[in-house]
Parts: sequence; C-alpha cells; structure tokens
Amino acid sequence: MASHLIAPHGGNLVDCFAGSERAEELKELSGQWPSWNLTSRQICDLELLLCGGFSPLSGFMTRADCQSVLTDMKLQDGTFWPVPLTLDLPEKAARGLCAGGTLVLRDLEGVAVAVLHIEDVFERPDAAAGSWCLGGRVEGIQPVQHYDFTDLRLTPAETRKRFEDSGWRRVVAFQPRGVMYRAEQEFTREAALALEAGLLIHPAVGLPEAGDADHYTRVRCLQAAVKRYPAGMATLGLLPLAEARAAEALLRAIVQKNYGCSHLFSEEEHPSLKKHQNDTGVEPVRLERDEQALPSTIEQIKEHLGRGREIPPRLAFPEVIRELERTYPPRSRQGFTVFFTGLPSAGKSTIANVLLVNLMEIGFLPVTLLDGDIVRRHLSSELGFSREHRDINIRRIGFVASEITKNGGIAICAPIAPYASVRKEVREMIAPRGGFVLVHVATPISICEDRDRKGLYAKARKGIIKKYTGISDPYETPEDADLSIDTSALTPKECAGKVILHLEKQGYIEEGRS
Ligand code: ADP
Repeated sequence: MASHLIAPHGGNLVDCFAGSERAEELKELSGQWPSWNLTSRQICDLELLLCGGFSPLSGFMTRADCQSVLTDMKLQDGTFWPVPLTLDLPEKAARGLCAGGTLVLRDLEGVAVAVLHIEDVFERPDAAAGSWCLGGRVEGIQPVQHYDFTDLRLTPAETRKRFEDSGWRRVVAFQPRGVMYRAEQEFTREAALALEAGLLIHPAVGLPEAGDADHYTRVRCLQAAVKRYPAGMATLGLLPLAEARAAEALLRAIVQKNYGCSHLFSEEEHPSLKKHQNDTGVEPVRLERDEQALPSTIEQIKEHLGRGREIPPRLAFPEVIRELERTYPPRSRQGFTVFFTGLPSAGKSTIANVLLVNLMEIGFLPVTLLDGDIVRRHLSSELGFSREHRDINIRRIGFVASEITKNGGIAICAPIAPYASVRKEVREMIAPRGGFVLVHVATPISICEDRDRKGLYAKARKGIIKKYTGISDPYETPEDADLSIDTSALTPKECAGKVILHLEKQGYIEEGRS
C-alpha cells in the first residue's frame, strides 16, 4: 500500500479501477470465480476504495494491517490509519475461501463491480468470535452505479478539479446533520470567510433505498440552502460514506483530505482531530451550534411537522421549510394503517367493516379493506396455515398496506396475525411512511368459540381442521398493541368508535370530522 497521505492539491490519489481492457478481462473471468453479494455498508466502503476516497488504501486490510491499526493507528508500512477496514463475511462463506484466490464483489443487483485478490482470510482480532473477514487488493470493474442526484456524486478527483477551477486554495468540509438551518449556514459562511476558504457541503448519504423519501427531501433542502451562500463560495457533493462510519471523525478527516479539503468542521470537541492534524493533513474547525430545542435530524423534523407544529421562518430558509412541509404533511393529511389482530371470531372483520363505513363517511382519504378472507382469496390463495405460510401472508398484507399508507391512503387489515415477530416486521415496514395502529381484538376465547361464525372451532375441536389458532395453533398476545378491545360487552359500532377516537387523539383524523 502507498506510504504517504497526499497533499490537499496535487499529489496522487490511489484509486483502484482496472484499465478498460483489464476490466473487460475481469468481467469475462468473473463467471469462473466465487462471488459475494455486498451489503449496503460494504458497497459504500468499496465505492470509496475504488474512487480513491480511502486513498492510500488499495484494498481491504489484512490481519497484520488490521492488528497494527488497532494497536498503533498505523498500517504496517507506517502510514497513519485510524480504524480497521475489512470485508466481513459469515464464517460459512469465509471458510470456503483462501489466500491466493479471487472473489467477485457484486452490488445489490448482482452486478460484478470489482474483484478482491484474497491475501488473507482471518478472524477479526477486535470483534466477537466468529467475525470473519477477507483482506487484499481490490480491482474495480466499474463504478458503483447511482441514479439519484448524479450531478452531486463527484469523485475525489472531480471534486479537487472543481476546487482547482474555482481557485480555492483552502477548502473546509461541512457534514450537515440534517437539512441545514439558517444558523448553520450563517456560521459556516462566516467561518469560511474568516479562513478565506471555499466550502464543501458534504453530507454522508450511505446507500439510500430506492423509495427513501427522507434522502431525497434532505438533499433537496441542502440544494436550496447551498444557493444561499454568496456566489462561488460553496459546493455540494454527496459522500458515499456508510452511516456507521460517518461518526468516525479521523476516518472522515482522511476522506475529506482525499476530496481535497484542508479543514473540516467538527461539531463536538474531537481532541483526536487536533492531535492527529499532521497525520490526516486536515485542520479541525469547531462548529458552534445554538442548541435550540429544535428538531435537527430528519427523524425529529418528521415527528415535529407530523404533529402539526411549524418550523419558524427565522430558523430555516423559506424554500427549505416549503420542501419539508411538502414531504412531511401533518398527520391529518398522512396515510395510515389500522391493523386488527385476534383469534378467529374475535370480531376483526365486523369491526373493520364498520370502521370502513365510518371512514368512508368522513371521506377525507381513500380507504382499502384487506380483510383476512379477502386477502387469502386474492393475494395468498396458494398459501396454507403453516407458520411459514401464515408469516408470508402477513408480510404480503403488510407490503400492500405500506404502499397504500405511503401514498396517502388508509389501509384496514383484519387477519388473525398470530405471531408477534411478523406483526413487528409489518409495523416497521409501515410506521416510517405514515401511521400504524395495532388493534388487538381481545375477545376471550370462550366467547369466540361460542360465536363460532363459520363452525370452524367445532371442526378444530374434533380434529377435522388441524392447526387452528387458539385450539391447536398458538396465538401470541400482542404486548405492543396501541389499542386493545374486548368485544364481549360492546357493540361493533362502539368498538369502531374506540378506534376512531384513538386516531383523533393521535392526530390522524382531525377532531370533529367523525
Ligand atoms: P373475525 O374476523 O375476528 O374472525 P368476525 O368479525 O368474522 O370475526 O366474527 C365476529 C362475530 O362476533 C360476528 O358474528 C359478530 O356479529 C359478533 N360480534 C358480537 N359483538 C361484536 C362486537 N362488539 N364486535 C365485533 N363482532 C361482534
């Protein structure tokens, strides 16, 4: 590996791309080698290796380098490096590989982006037993493909070129935490002017999922905020650094150096940044942030706006506020899912149907009913009642409900959904995209059995039906229900009323609309 860090301007970046002929050759050979489908985080690591962002590294670390970094913060050749950078694999996958071999590295779509010339297969010295990794040089076949904001995805070389063209001799990097409020913009503007430096706004964006609205909103807000700097003072680039790595200040300093920066804003007091300033070649500048009781991360902003609160214009630029309000409407304009769970004959379908009618009467959002029986007929007709099939059925319902919710509609689901883990999966699928209300229809089994609408309890008791929930198959009582309704002493209308009341309290239905 190369032995020195490079100067902010000039100096060679170590990128890992093979020349075009060699890349063609590797592509052809790749069918013969074993391959590994990279995780999102590994794709980010690989992307930075390939483009020179992790220069002077030219691959993943071997055990010796890893050990040396852990004890001395140095690669074996003496180059400063703060944290291990390895390619981690499950033991089973690692055991089949050995030094001298070649491994094809594939992205999420299975495209071969690089090969790894394996130099070492080892257990990570600092991690739990069973954490295996590979070390060795990588050769890039093609850049990691992005389709979002491609004009902002500059490589280190392109970024340096831009600085050079702008005549920037000093550049300070700023990693915004959220969408950039006025105070941050003003502080960074003044500090950069005092330093006589250009500004690189460089959010670490990792590898966003295709439908990740938060990512798109955040970048659009940053695009708007960057225009507020004096002309020619600031530039915006997206850094493919995995979220988990963005907090590693020294690693970040090296990356920023490779992107041509001489300074970097640091939010917290990072004594190590100052201490290792000569090693990284980047000088830290303290970013002072007014600790207002204001939401600053996207998560907090979402919650704040969802509850119908405002972001005051003195805190954010109007175009940023507009952007945020567009993506994060108050809950009364967001879609939501009401997910009923409970034993057969507990009353799920009956309440769901009354709720459907009530919501249609209010008439503010389109409503879809995904009743247990309807779903089994239309979405899951080939499935049976094994645990595996029940879980697949619930996942399908969850997927459809999440699409409806995301697009601003109401989904009412009424399956039995006996297992807690898959109910949790469904909540996680839906909650980031709108409302999710889990209603446990907690009618005692004796009453459900007495009702026995379809005569199925009786058949289950006689053993004619196997695996019947409540009789011969488990029902895991929810511990995370937002609402629990025992129907034994209530009318269906009263039960639906309880759900409506809950939705009003949570802000999904404006009070007075029901
Ligand atoms: P599930 O969908 O949970 O299998 P159903 O809604 O199909 O249950 O059946 C529930 C039965 O209980 C229906 O016959 C319904 O009329 C009756 N019932 C009595 N009181 C209620 C109530 N408060 N809520 C819902 N159903 C009730």
